[in-house]
This record gives sequence, C-alpha cells and structure tokens, in this order.
Amino acid sequence: MILIVDDKPENIFSLKRILEINSFEVDTALSGEEALKKILKRSYSLIILDVQMPGMDGFEVAENISGYSKSKDIPIIFLSAVNTDKRFITKGYASGGVDYITKPVEPEILILKVKTLHRIYEQTRDLNDAQLALRAEIEFRKEAQTELKERVQELRSILESIPQIAFTAKSNGVIEFVNQHWLNYSPAQEKFPVAHPDDPNIEERWKDAISRNVPLEMEVRIKKLHEDEYHCHLLRTTPIKEAEVIVKWVGTFTDIEDQKKAEMRKDEFLSIASHELKTPLTSIKAYMQLLERAFSSELKTSKVSANYLQRAQFQVDKLHSLIADLLDISKIESGKLKFNEKVFNFENLLANSIDIIRQTNHEVTIIRKGTVDKFVYGDEIRIEQVILNYLTNAIKYSPDNKEVIVENSLTPEGDIIVRVIDSGIGISADKHAEIFNKYYRVDETSNRFQGLGIGLYICSEIIKRHHGSFGVESSPGKGSSFYFCIPVHTPETTLIKP
Ligand code: ADP
Repeated sequence: MILIVDDKPENIFSLKRILEINSFEVDTALSGEEALKKILKRSYSLIILDVQMPGMDGFEVAENISGYSKSKDIPIIFLSAVNTDKRFITKGYASGGVDYITKPVEPEILILKVKTLHRIYEQTRDLNDAQLALRAEIEFRKEAQTELKERVQELRSILESIPQIAFTAKSNGVIEFVNQHWLNYSPAQEKFPVAHPDDPNIEERWKDAISRNVPLEMEVRIKKLHEDEYHCHLLRTTPIKEAEVIVKWVGTFTDIEDQKKAEMRKDEFLSIASHELKTPLTSIKAYMQLLERAFSSELKTSKVSANYLQRAQFQVDKLHSLIADLLDISKIESGKLKFNEKVFNFENLLANSIDIIRQTNHEVTIIRKGTVDKFVYGDEIRIEQVILNYLTNAIKYSPDNKEVIVENSLTPEGDIIVRVIDSGIGISADKHAEIFNKYYRVDETSNRFQGLGIGLYICSEIIKRHHGSFGVESSPGKGSSFYFCIPVHTPETTLIKP
C-alpha cells in the first residue's frame, strides 16, 4: 500500500489515479500530522510526500518517520518545486530509499520511480525477514548446543558415580569418554580392557556391532592392570538416539563374578544334592530286597534281618537329615524358619549334644574343656543343630585324627563361647570369609568328602537369629577351630525377642 501525503486534494486525486491505473493500492493523508498517525497504525511500502505543506512540512514528516523503528525503512518520494535543493531533500532520511519528483508530476517518471522504490522496499523487507530467521536459527542452535553440553556433562557425572566400568563412544565407535574405573583395567582411554586369552576379542566384537548398528552384549573375563585374577564381566552397550539416528553409544562393564560363582555353586549343589539323596535310597532299596529274600527263604534268622534293618535305618537317618537341611534352606530363603524360644540351661544342652555324637561315633574321642553353667534364651533344638554340625564336620574333615576338643567359656563381654577344635585337614585363610556362605565347599577337598555345603550356612543363620556371632580359625594341615557366641540370658534379655 502506498501513502500519498499532500495538502491539496486535487494533487492527491491525480496521483492516486495514476497509481491505481498501475494496480497499486493507495491511501491518502492531507497533512503531515495525519500521515504520521496513519504510518503508526499500518505499514506502507512507499510514501509520496509533498515537501511544501502548511503546518508540518514534508521534511519534518520524513524526519519523524526515520525515528520510528517500524517505519524507518519505508522509501519516500518527495514532491517538490523545481528549485528545491536535492541535498536538502535527503537530509534527515538516510536509512530508507529516497527519491524526488519535481512538480508538475510526469506520470511515466512517477511510475518508474514508484516501481523501483517499491521493489527496493520489498527486497529490503525480504532481506530483513531472512536476517531475522537466521538470527532465530543461530539462537536456537546455540541453545541446543548448550543443552547438549549440559546433557553430556550430566551423563559423564552419572557414569563417574556408578560402580561399573563405563564409557561413551561416538556413533562410529570411537571412544570419547571413560570413567575412572576404566583406567584400572585399561592403560589408555581409547583401548578396551584386554580379555582373557580364551574369551572373544572385545575390540573385534565392538567393531562388528558398530558396523551393524546394533547394541553389544557379551560376557567376558577381564582383569585389573596389576592383578592376575580375571573377573567375569557383562559388557553392554546402548545407543543414544536423536530423531531416530544414533549419535552416541554408552557402555558398561559390570562385574558378575560373584553371580557367576553363585550360579555355578547352585548348579553344583543341585547335582550333588540329587546324588546324595539317591545314594541312601539305593542302599535302603537293596536292604529291603535282602530282607524280603531273607524272609521268603528258610534263612530268616532274626540276627541277619536285624542287621539289614539296622543298616537300612542308618540310611533312613541320613536321608532324613539331608532332607531336613534342604527344608531348612528353603525355609531360610522364604523367611519361614521358625524358632521355638524358651530359657534353657546351656551346659545341659552342650553335654547332651556331645553324648549324641559319642553314641554314633564310637571311634572318636571328644575332650571337654571348661563349662559354663548359664542360661540362654533361644531355640534349644536349633542351637543343638549348630553344635552337632560343628562336631560332625570336625570328625568328617579329620580323617586321620579322631580327637576333637570342645571348649566352653565366657567372652570378656560375658557371652557364651563354644569352640570345636579338630586336628584335621584345615582351611586356608583366603577361604575363611566364604566358608559360611550358602553352597560353599572348599574346592580342593570337595571330592574327597561328601557334603552339600549348606550346614555351616544354616548354622550362621541360626546364630544370627540368636544375636550371636561365629567364625573359624584354621590353616591347612593344622586343623580348624570353629566357634560361635550367644548372649547369656538375664531377666532383661528375655524381653528382647528376635
Ligand atoms: P558340607 O560339609 O556338607 O560340605 P558345610 O556347610 O558344613 O557343608 O561346610 C562347608 C565347607 O567347609 C565344607 O565343604 C568344607 O570344605 C569346609 N569345612 C567345614 N568344616 C570343616 C572342618 N572342620 N575342617 C575343614 N574344612 C571344613
């Protein structure tokens, strides 16, 4: 839209006609003041301004327009008398396109100039728009970049704080960040830890996964730089995507050595347990058949039958205790191991337990050292189970020495302590911490002695539930001393239920 500003309506009329014929939209103002009001309200592509007007003249109007940011770029054509100085005309309006036309106006020249300035205006406007869009784009990118930097920083802080070995890599697989743990396993940031010689090469598997754009998941044994022992780790990589495109990879190595060992022990346990259960059953079956035959033949002397029965009974007892242990394990696991608590005399319990062992192990000498005539609040049968277990183990793991010492005293703290000391095969110090764990059996001796590796675990659970402590002192070839402590009963402790 073009604005014509002239105080003479007849001039406006003729100019308007010329422009409209040439398909321009036109608005008009009869004074400088009116023109300024209109310019403030709407935008024009060109202003044709009469220089000589009463009140505010054309120059003043132009000067005012140049002060408004909205309209400062609108081109102006001044209409002036022939003798007006051109320099004077451009004064005060330097930023927009400016031209002049002398009166009387020649239509062709007017249209030519209008078209040129109109085009300049449109080009300037397009340029300004493009510049604005460009600025917005730059701003947006800057923000996105800052946000990305913050996210990367955040991710790195997280990766530093986790217990795993962690790294990030570019989409092409080049490692760009590693956490502190990484450097315990690899001498350099860009190199993966070295895998066990029998395990797949990590670098190769990583490159393969990257080339196929798929996450990597593998179990691999790696070791710390200055250690010899390999630990099984789970390596897992995850892509970070932006608009469905992978921009980064995050990877972790998680130490799953303990998990692996526990799994292995459980498998081993199941196979041993089924074997252990089957052996007495087979014997029982055989004795039953023998008994059957003894009865059906004339040979049925009561002595022979009694012997078979006794042997079968022994195997039934064995089976019973195996099944009882297995049941205890499942009760502990489901939190259903029940205790029948009452106050009992500890000396009586210890003496009884030793008697039970003596009756079934005639070849063994059990030497008693010290007595504690105190009372305990707890489950008598379960504590007996612990003593029997310690004693049975002391005998079982001392194939060449059948002397076991049972020491009983009070600790400096006033708790009852029982020690079962044997002179058997012993246990090396590095195994002491694990000996009370579920399914744990010392590898070197597990083939020589029957067992499930659950007895000491059950003992530890029983003692814990009695607020006691337990442990072992032992060295290979020198025998072992297994101990447990439990609190003495006082009127106050009766009130403390586990
Ligand atoms: P089990 O005897 O059925 O294997 P336990 O839980 O009672 O299971 O014992 C766990 C392991 O601790 C045994 O396999 C054995 O290696 C070791 N152990 C226990 N008691 C003794 C002991 N008195 N002397 C030597 N080793 C022992």
